[in-house]
Amino acid sequence: MDFSLTDEQELVRATAREFTDKEIVPAAKQNSRDHHFDLDLVRKIADQGYLGAIVPREYGGAGLDYRTYGLVVEEVGRGDSSMRTVISVQTSLVCSTILKFGTEEQKRKYLAALCSGELLGCFGLTEPDTGSDAADQRTRATKVDGGWRINGAKMWISLGNHAGLALIFAQTDPDKGHKGVACFLVDTDQEGFRPSVIEHKMGLHGSDTAEIGLDDVFAPDDAVLGEVGNGFRVAMTALDSGRYSVAAGCVGVCRSSLEESVKYAKEREQFGRPIASFQLVQAMIAEMRVRTDAARLLVWRAGWLKDTGQPNTTETSIAKLYASEAAVWCANEAIQVHGGAGYADDHVVERHFRDVRVTTLYEGTSQIQKLIIGRAETGINALVPA
Ligand SMILES: Cc1cc2nc3c(=O)[nH]c(=O)nc-3n(C[C@H](O)[C@H](O)[C@H](O)COP(=O)(O)OP(=O)(O)OC[C@H]3O[C@@H](n4cnc5c(N)ncnc54)[C@H](O)[C@@H]3O)c2cc1C
Repeated sequence: MDFSLTDEQELVRATAREFTDKEIVPAAKQNSRDHHFDLDLVRKIADQGYLGAIVPREYGGAGLDYRTYGLVVEEVGRGDSSMRTVISVQTSLVCSTILKFGTEEQKRKYLAALCSGELLGCFGLTEPDTGSDAADQRTRATKVDGGWRINGAKMWISLGNHAGLALIFAQTDPDKGHKGVACFLVDTDQEGFRPSVIEHKMGLHGSDTAEIGLDDVFAPDDAVLGEVGNGFRVAMTALDSGRYSVAAGCVGVCRSSLEESVKYAKEREQFGRPIASFQLVQAMIAEMRVRTDAARLLVWRAGWLKDTGQPNTTETSIAKLYASEAAVWCANEAIQVHGGAGYADDHVVERHFRDVRVTTLYEGTSQIQKLIIGRAETGINALVPA
């Protein structure tokens, strides 16, 4: 097995590292304090080509493979999970889903605008009463002349207040269960599409999160993404890409937690010497290093499987489960290394801890990842509704 990076991958990583240090890191603390979704910064991220990183060049993307995309996301995640969330949603949940299931017309209509950042997209799967059991869509799509009328509500939708395009999942025929779900490419510029900001989140204050009311929203026939009835498969395929991106971002949080802890432990003195010289502090640092490396290797394996066209749902879940739990653990431990100083936002570890907590929840909780992995190991599917 060869773990070395190609010259191109090294260059892309170095560029992403430099961009993160120059543009993302300096803005992150204030954006978090102000609860500000920084559209200027999103535009700069788009200019770097990160919003369409895995979209082929012919559709306006950067044409990166998954492994290289993972390197970019790790760097951005190291700087700011809020901006990493923007990349994960736009690139993995929205662009890659249109790329995989879209008609040629849909790809031409949306991808270039999404990649350039001219258009933001959101992914509307979760509802007030539908989370882990995503097949149980309560939002209804009713057939009318020339298209569909959609009624219902979506919850916790990242970028939902700023998106011009929303992927909305809805039930077309309740008798068919998950085989009645469809995904619609919804133009948000209509009266019945009513997003509102979800306030008072624990973290990701620099990222936009919406609750969305859908009142008779119209989607024409040619706005169905994939087939009517295969929306659940569209959603699960999107999450295979999204979970990879979340996992890569978590590696960045692990790494930053480690780097910040090492730096602080060498500077901070107690008992007349740097705290880095205490074995109990080194134990925390060593464990962070182990988890960072393990998380990264799992992400790289998932990326390699994707790039070589092999099945990867289980391995992507393993990477997402491990990397998100590792990132929460590392951020928490980094606060421990910083002592009281880690409890205020002068040190980035405080923000990492609040921001990364959501990664064991969104795009499938850790419990759901375990059920996906358990299903693969046992052949028994615990994810089917009772
Ligand atoms: C900041 C943020 C951004 C988000 N962005 C998006 C987005 O852009 N688009 C989108 O569609 N969604 C988004 N989500 C929603 C997210 O994906 C859901 O919160 C997540 O899937 C969990 O659903 P739930 O919150 O309804 O929890 P529930 O499904 O109610 O789960 C509650 C608890 O029960 C456990 N549980 C549920 N079922 C089982 C089971 N069968 N076995 C064992 N344990 C189980 C869960 O693991 C969890 O611990 C976002 C959420 C947040 C917080």
